[in-house]
Amino acid sequence: MTEISPMEEWLYSCIRCGNCKYVFKGYAPSCPSGEYFNFESYFASGRLWIAHGIQKGELDWDPSLIDPIFSCTTCGNCEVQCLAPHREHIVEMIEELRHLAVKKIGALPAHQKFAERIESNHNPYGAEHHARTLVQEHSLPNMASIVYFIGCTSNYRENEIRDSTISILQKAGVDFTIVDEHCCGSPLLRTGQVDEVTELAEHNRTEIQHTGAKIVITSCSGCYRTLIKDYNRLGLELDVEVVHISQFIRELINEGKLILKKSFEPLQVTYHDPCHLARHMGEYEAPRDVLNFLPVDFVEMDEIRESAWCCGAGGGCKAAYPEWSLETAKTRIEHAVETEASTLVSTCPFCKRGLADANNDSMEIIDLCELVDRLS
Ligand code: SF4
Ligand code: SF4
Repeated sequence: MTEISPMEEWLYSCIRCGNCKYVFKGYAPSCPSGEYFNFESYFASGRLWIAHGIQKGELDWDPSLIDPIFSCTTCGNCEVQCLAPHREHIVEMIEELRHLAVKKIGALPAHQKFAERIESNHNPYGAEHHARTLVQEHSLPNMASIVYFIGCTSNYRENEIRDSTISILQKAGVDFTIVDEHCCGSPLLRTGQVDEVTELAEHNRTEIQHTGAKIVITSCSGCYRTLIKDYNRLGLELDVEVVHISQFIRELINEGKLILKKSFEPLQVTYHDPCHLARHMGEYEAPRDVLNFLPVDFVEMDEIRESAWCCGAGGGCKAAYPEWSLETAKTRIEHAVETEASTLVSTCPFCKRGLADANNDSMEIIDLCELVDRLS
């Protein structure tokens, strides 16, 4: 009998039942891509069928495969709804399909730009690289027990998240510093450009080692996933504990190191689970615990936690499929508006960016770090 690889075994476990298309409880749609493009190959089941065809040599690499392969936010909602064995590998299989596609036909032009800009400027936006200037600006030490890994979106686009994180750490008297960080590699990993990531990880590991830190904190859910899950999977471990800022803030409040203000007119807030923090890493509680500590009225949306609707920005889709990405974010804003909250909070700069672009002034969109900084 011919041996089959783990990837083949995973592919054969899809029985084409279609459960991945809906949230099991309540039959709400689960897949932003399938809902928008409305064709089988834009759902997880169709993508796995494409992978199956390629693996068996029954499908040739053809331009008609490009959109089904790349128009997936890698949100992982299909993995939650699927009941088949190996369901936890669906996103990995879609990413492996992208890796193969990039090798065979090259990356999408929008995604190639990420790689070019990371090579020239160390960030996917092509912004002027500036991490070390922050060390002087905030009088940070060269050696510290904790490194704050900012992430490119907080550093170069949503920098109020970076500034409020620094402010929180300073208010709580945390011994931390910032390194000359390069992109963690998440935009490349999500878009099939895996081979370029080793150099980035090695640079970041060396920079962190030079500080003597044993803990890395990040305010970006994409970095959090990448620095732990992807670096470990690729054998690029950082040899430090990586902590998401929501987990760290919860600890600071619990230990009495961060003092919260009292508010007599509490904001009504709701919370969006970022896919990279929640479904991908299983962290649902820390942001909610922090919101419950704060002087706010916290109200949940219907589609939350494992079954939360994606913001539409991930997987390279905001760059390559902007209209669909925006429509997906608009749906999430509608979910938030239904709660009658005035403020939508998330814990990922990329979610904030995607949701803010779709917002139309219906509510305030902020990161948890901004809210905590405002109320401490
Ligand atoms: S991915 Fe899972 S839920 Fe979707 S069709 Fe295949 S077996 Fe069914
Ligand atoms: S990861 Fe998200 S967008 Fe991609 S197929 Fe699964 S549910 Fe659809």
